This record gives sequence, C-alpha cells and structure tokens, in this order.
Amino acid sequence: MADFNKVLTPGDYQKGELNVVIEIPTGSNHKIEWDREHACFMLDRVEPMAFAKPCNYGFIPQTLDEDGDELDVLMITDQPLTTGIWMKAKILGVMKFVDGGEVDDKIICVPADDRNNGDAYQSLKDLPAQTLKQIEFHFNHYKDLKEAGTTEVKAFEDVESAKKVIAASIERYLDIHPELTAKNAVKDTADKIKEAIKEL
Ligand SMILES: [Mg+2]
Repeated sequence: MADFNKVLTPGDYQKGELNVVIEIPTGSNHKIEWDREHACFMLDRVEPMAFAKPCNYGFIPQTLDEDGDELDVLMITDQPLTTGIWMKAKILGVMKFVDGGEVDDKIICVPADDRNNGDAYQSLKDLPAQTLKQIEFHFNHYKDLKEAGTTEVKAFEDVESAKKVIAASIERYLDIHPELTAKNAVKDTADKIKEAIKEL
C-alpha cells in the first residue's frame, strides 16, 4: 500500500480544496485508523454499535494535529465511502473538539466534485441542522460507555477558521519534515515560472 504521507500533499487548502484519505465509512462502528508507522490501515478497536459514525471519517496527508496524529476530517456524503480511498474535498468548516484535554479538531468536508448535489454545499450553513446536531451528539458522547465526559465539542466554525487549523497542522508537519519545505519551495518557484510564461 502506498504511504499516503509520501504520495499525497494536503491539497490546495487556501483555495478551499483538500486531499483526504478515508478511514471509517459512515455507519461503521469499526475504529479503523491509518497506521503511519507501517503505512497501512488497522482496526484499532470496535466501538459500541450505538456509536457508529454519523459520517465518514478520515485524515489530511502531511498534517500533524496537536494530538500527534494527522488532522482529522468528517466527510459528509449521501452513501458511505470505503476505507483506503483518497479524494478531493471541499472545506465547509471545522468542528472545534477536545478529547481527554487534547485539541483534536475535525475539518468538515464534502466531495469536491459532487454531481448529485451540485454546488448545494458551500458552508456549514448549507448542511441540514440535524446532520450537525447528530455529529455534535456523537462526538460529545461516543466515549461515554468507557468514561463519560471525556470529550467535548466546543464549536462549529467557518471555512476561514478551518483554513487556520489546517495551516497550523501543515506547519507542525513541516517542522518535523524539513525536506518537504525545500521540495515545496522548488515546486512553488516552478509554478510561478509556469504562470509567468503563460502571461508572456
Ligand atoms: Mg485526531
């Protein structure tokens, strides 16, 4: 299996686009996680069926959140996605979230090219209120059978706030992977040269 942190970038998040890898399909109680050490997926645990995921769950490659993992994504689709696929996503906002005292924010997305819903979803305001209520309830309670009160949804914030969370997570990743900073700088210069040539 490809190491997603090697073959994918986070995507052009400043334009509202992300590359996202799916770990858990909507409706699954399997806590499937990307195992970055072995570059494959593992079943970390089976959750109570009452706390099956209300939406697909995944991560952004080449990011590092404050909990030491890649930055998490909640991907809202009409049908469950499959573990192991990657996709281009449109950012709608961010769910500010704390798990056991650690910041563990979740970027909320929809597929970038959705010909079923068209451009219906541009921000969190476009989602059904009940969808966000279910997500909020899920993340406030999904660990209650182990120990109640360990997780807390703090707020839902807009696309700009999501971009700040993504930028900070990319910075953290680049701090421990300086070779990518150099590679990205070369790519940026190449892109600028290409743009300049186009304008001639
Ligand atoms: Mg996390």
